[in-house]
This record gives sequence, C-alpha cells and structure tokens, in this order.
Amino acid sequence: MVERVVYVLGAGSSSDAGGPLTRDFFSRLGKKDNTIYARHFDNNSRYLTIEAIYRDWSKNKTEHNVEEFFKDVSLAWTTGERFADPTTGRYLDHSTLERYLTWYIASYVHWSVAARGTAPGHYRRFARSLRQRGKRFSVITFNYDLVFERAILRELGSVNYCLPHAKGPREFLSMRGTPFLKLHGSLNWLRCPKCGRFEVSESSVAHVFPKKRCLSRCGELKEPVIVPPVSDKSRYLGPKNILWKKASDLLSDANTVVIIGYSLPMLDIAAQGLLRSSGRSADGFEFVIVNRTPQSVSNVAERLGLEPLGSQYGMSYTPHLATFKDYVEKSL
Ligand SMILES: [Zn+2]
Repeated sequence: MVERVVYVLGAGSSSDAGGPLTRDFFSRLGKKDNTIYARHFDNNSRYLTIEAIYRDWSKNKTEHNVEEFFKDVSLAWTTGERFADPTTGRYLDHSTLERYLTWYIASYVHWSVAARGTAPGHYRRFARSLRQRGKRFSVITFNYDLVFERAILRELGSVNYCLPHAKGPREFLSMRGTPFLKLHGSLNWLRCPKCGRFEVSESSVAHVFPKKRCLSRCGELKEPVIVPPVSDKSRYLGPKNILWKKASDLLSDANTVVIIGYSLPMLDIAAQGLLRSSGRSADGFEFVIVNRTPQSVSNVAERLGLEPLGSQYGMSYTPHLATFKDYVEKSL
C-alpha cells in the first residue's frame, strides 16, 4: 500500500531561507531589516501610513502582531470598524487599508527572502526526499514565499498548485507535480475579483500590484492573493474555495501528517478545523510535530486537540524536537 504523507509548513520552515516570522513584521528585528526598510519602506508614504495605523491599533491589544492586525482589517468589511491614520486623523476606506497592508506583507516577505540570497542546501534535500518510493507526498503551506516550490522545481521539475483553470507556467500547474497547496495565497498569484480566475507567474508579483487585466471577458484588474487568517476566505479564494477543500481531502486520506515550523495560531480557527480533520479515513494514522522546543510542540498538540486528553481517545502524535534543517538532514 502506498503511504500518503502530507507536510504542513509554517513560517518557521522558510526562515532559514530568509522568510520572516510573524513577530518580525513591523519590528525590525531581523538582521536584514536595516537594508530592507531603508530601501523600500522608510520613505514610502504607504508604509508610513500603515505602520502608524498598526502602532495605533496595537495600543489597545494584548496580543498584537501582523496576523491579528490583518484579521481585524479584513473583518472591518463586515464589522464596519474604521481605521484612521493617527498622524493626519484621516480615515482610510477598507479597500485602501487592505491594499496597503497586502502590499506591505508581500513586500516584506519578498525582500526578506531576496536579501538572504540563495536558499541553503537543505531545501533541495527536502525536495529530493519527496521522490521516495512507496510514498505519495503532498505539501500544504501557510507561507506566501516561493522558497519550497523553487527547490522542488529544481529537483523534481514540477509542482501542482491545484488551481484548475489557472493560467501560468506549466511547471507550477502540472497534474503530475507534487500537490502544493498554498492556503494563504502566494507572492506569484493574481486573481480576478470578478470571475475568480487565477494567474500564476514565474516569480513574485504581489508586492508590485501589476496592472494586469483579466483575460476573460470581464476585463477586471487582477489582485494579489494574500489571504488573512479569517474563517471566510471567499473574498480572497472564491466562494467554492477549492484549495481548502482539496487540502481537507488530502488530510483526511493521509497516513502521516508532518507539521513543520507551524505554530497553528489561536486566531486561525479555519486552519485548526482543517488540521483536526486529518487521518479520518486512514489506518494507523500518525501526526508528527517538528518544532524546536517541547513547549512549542505541545502548544500545537493542544490546538489540535491531541493534548491533554487526546491519547484517551486513541489520538496520539510523535514529537520531534528539531529545527527544520536538523529534521531534513537527520531524518529524511
Ligand atoms: Zn475575470
């Protein structure tokens, strides 16, 4: 029998390649931040506005990070919450605010990865491991960067974004490629808000908001696909949300789900629900949680409902205390 393995990747898995962690946004904690901010943000009025609004918003929050902020900004479409730039007192309309934030997030991820240069060798080693005989692999990621698919394209030739009807280079949309589901969107995706058609590019485009019209008859301007951690993803991924459905199918059929560098944040109810559906129809199902510290592993286990009482209901998991690099080099 073929063993079905699903990798679930979070920000921690891209960080060796320069990908930022949640806490890095708006913080200037990273080594490369001095260059990135000076070149791309410090004199940019969009950035100065969104940063001022973020600082003002965070004053009243116990938990404040870019994900919480993105969620609130997205929910403002329905809650009607309004955000003013504290330096001018001017209110921003929802779509401008969300565009500014999307631009910042996409730019920060793009420039952080670019500043790191070539990704270290263990990404390609991970990619090569997806060829093991007797196993069928899929990848589900919450990251926007292109670090993993670049490594997989180099080693295996293709990935499958599982976006039917999308336009773009064949190697990203190959039915034979490793299923590679980007549940929060991607730096190289655009989508038509009217007809829902996706367009995939060779490299990052989300940070520049290219003025590309939809090739279908509707002729709308396409938008970047950077999805906030809200439950209703229809505005970003379409009402059918085929990506999350496909992820749910893969997870429920999986024999092994390996979670790497993903903290399963409390605010992301949709992601928690999705992962809890894992292994429903597979025999001998196993969760493997790869993280550096016992605390972070057990936080994830708790959010998956595996702790403290999970074992009583026959749900168990294997903790794997390692960095992504160590995991790849010693276990794959
Ligand atoms: Zn269209």
